[in-house]
Amino acid sequence: MNPKFSRQQIFAWADQLTQQPDYQALTHYFLDLLHQLPGIGQATAFEVYGGRNRKTCETCSVCEQMVRRFPIDLAEDGLENHEDLLTEFNSGQDLVESDPDSNGRISRVVAVIRKVAGPNRALLIKGSLDKDTLELIGDLIKLYQNLVGLHDSKERDTLTKLPNRQSFDKRLMQICEYYQRQPVVDPKISKSSWFALLDIDHFKQINDNFGHLYGDEVLLIFSQLMEKHFRYNDFLFRFGGEEFVVILNLSDQDNAEAVFERFRKLIADYAFPTVGRVTVSIGVTHIDTAIMPSILLDRADKALYHAKANGRNQVVVYEKTTQLMLENPSSEPDLF
Ligand code: GH3
Ligand code: MG
Ligand code: MG
Repeated sequence: MNPKFSRQQIFAWADQLTQQPDYQALTHYFLDLLHQLPGIGQATAFEVYGGRNRKTCETCSVCEQMVRRFPIDLAEDGLENHEDLLTEFNSGQDLVESDPDSNGRISRVVAVIRKVAGPNRALLIKGSLDKDTLELIGDLIKLYQNLVGLHDSKERDTLTKLPNRQSFDKRLMQICEYYQRQPVVDPKISKSSWFALLDIDHFKQINDNFGHLYGDEVLLIFSQLMEKHFRYNDFLFRFGGEEFVVILNLSDQDNAEAVFERFRKLIADYAFPTVGRVTVSIGVTHIDTAIMPSILLDRADKALYHAKANGRNQVVVYEKTTQLMLENPSSEPDLF
């Protein structure tokens, strides 16, 4: 037993940790808990994507590493340099400690959490830590790691490891609530968030022609290309089947359209093993301050339907298409 903390205190923390309903709540609670420990100045959580531990198929080269700070800030475009963290993360150890100072205290610890259903995680702890506190941190991290594993298996899709439909519903509600508190902006000139439905074209034919396993491989590579293409502060989901959702943050309309257009082209130009050419249709809509999740989905779905009806392999922005309808009302029945 750690001499600085009573049995009751440690059990109370364990009890609270196991009560957290999802990964987000768990990680917020765990970071708060770490900040209560003596000598901890700063504790930060990260998700680490890509790299040699990422499940990749034989021919897939999508393994560049990317670090995302927890939680993602919808108002901050903070591209940070994570070189030190990645060196520690890639050392292969689960707990990387800096050299002790003259009093035997440690100023920096990186705990690595691997082999969970979701991305690998890293916890960075800075301060002046003695041996007892370090030991306690090590024990608490084991508990946290087990709980991350449980939440991941509930919140993530088993094939692509992207957040699943259940996580999507929660996240979209959070984002809509966030924007309901923000002033109205003109999406053409101000940066805000965009909602996109991505649906792989003629996916049934891929399954029919090459078999379900190759279909699964396309889904896996598609998700890896999404992770590589979109930025650290965007949200990606597997919506179901061959449908994905991207919530693109901090972007004006032209930029959003350009980002999705580049992704469409990336997929169209990518040589998928055995299957060869695959294309995607994308319906995009703006997340404004008064919008409900169901309306967003409906708008993106309409834009996607329009892309499908007009030849597939294209990006349709709902706001631009409705503008077209207003300018030329006779085209309305053909559009949606
Ligand atoms: P469209 O261009 O209109 O979107 O045509 P589509 O063939 O992509 O769309 P459709 O909805 O007809 O077919 C989707 C197919 O996706 C049918 C289903 O069997 C397949 N599918 C759904 N989930 C998975 C999965 O996890 N793995 C594989 N291999 N196939 C899946
Ligand atoms: Mg579909
Ligand atoms: Mg499809």
